[in-house]
Amino acid sequence: MCTVNNVKGEIDIQRLPVNFEEHKFNDWTVKYTKSHILHSLCTSSENCKEKPLEQCLLCLYTNTLQLPHLPEMVFPNNKLTILHPNGGYIEFNALDALKRVSNGKQSVKVACSDYWKESRSPANLEEKIKPFDWTFSTDYKGTLSKSAVIEATEERIDIEKLKQKRKDIVLPRIDVV
Ligand SMILES: [Zn+2]
Repeated sequence: MCTVNNVKGEIDIQRLPVNFEEHKFNDWTVKYTKSHILHSLCTSSENCKEKPLEQCLLCLYTNTLQLPHLPEMVFPNNKLTILHPNGGYIEFNALDALKRVSNGKQSVKVACSDYWKESRSPANLEEKIKPFDWTFSTDYKGTLSKSAVIEATEERIDIEKLKQKRKDIVLPRIDVV
């Protein structure tokens, strides 16, 4: 569902409902939030410049990441959180994942890019080859709460148990982009 701004005739994506669900699994809580795509225009450029803490999501992503451009589709409010009863959690969100995209340290090369570079004049080159990872690859492994502590373990996922396909041990399936 979307609303149309009658004055400007634009679709107001900021008012779309947020999709939220929470599941208990033994002591753990698994919850997710899904919402609209990141808008492509700043909603209040003056306010965003003057009050960084109140900036719109587009400015928050643009200013935080400092990437030459953002991915075509970003879902800024989509989040998956796995919460322990003592308050510790691991969360997966788009902003923290994009913070780990290589920016200015190009490691993925386009095939034949050297040949391509040689065939272009240096004057045009700077604009066309941005030194960042345009595939937006990230080694993001989640965001931990401050109280969470990482410890090495010998424990492994019980593959045999998973193979049994028991309905009581399978959580509802969700897709969070
Ligand atoms: Zn803004």
